[in-house]
Amino acid sequence: MTKIELSKRQEQILEIVKENGPITGEHIAERLNLTRATLRPDLAILTMSGFLEARPRVGYFYTGRSDMQMLSESLNKLRVMDYQSIPVVVDEGISVYDAIVMMFLEDVGTMFVVDKHALLVGVLSRKDLLRASIGKQELSSIPVNIIMTRMPNITMCTKEDLLTDVAKKLIEKQIDALPIVKETDKGFEVIGRITKTNITKAFVALANEGY
Ligand code: ADP
Repeated sequence: MTKIELSKRQEQILEIVKENGPITGEHIAERLNLTRATLRPDLAILTMSGFLEARPRVGYFYTGRSDMQMLSESLNKLRVMDYQSIPVVVDEGISVYDAIVMMFLEDVGTMFVVDKHALLVGVLSRKDLLRASIGKQELSSIPVNIIMTRMPNITMCTKEDLLTDVAKKLIEKQIDALPIVKETDKGFEVIGRITKTNITKAFVALANEGY
């Protein structure tokens, strides 16, 4: 879909249909002193973008959908799979020290912890690692599985989920990222990562594209 920015003539058409609908293309053209052919592209744009509905042999109706309604309809089509990132996964046996190094190298804020079968067992955030670093413990001898947030307390999503549902979970749980998982009979495999940054990118894409 293109940006919803109507021309002056399209606005006039909307006004006419709002007041007189259902009304045929012929009659709209008459009111504007234009030919039906001249109006055809405008009517096509208005119906495709959802402002008008065309019924054969009856004419055009104003759908009454506001810009906000259309925006929320578009928002509710955005899915995790179109905005996801690659997950950064660490083994549950690695040390807090190595996890900190990994977090810097991979340039992420959240890492997912897996067991030897590559199944999700935990989440590590920046603050989890900072908390473990307070005090005098030997960071290279503490395994991450004693400081991580563990199953079953992990908030997850699937790649088919709506981005708006992910955003709600991030807000409710006050977290920055979710693992995207695939359920198997043994547990959950991590297949992606979705973060506040991905949602911010979707927001900008929406503003630019007018989706
Ligand atoms: P930070 O701690 O860097 O501010 P978060 O706000 O994401 O990052 O994390 C807050 C706490 O929530 C941490 O203890 C972290 O382990 C936990 N956490 C983060 N993501 C999830 C998740 N998807 N499910 C469950 N707990 C999570």
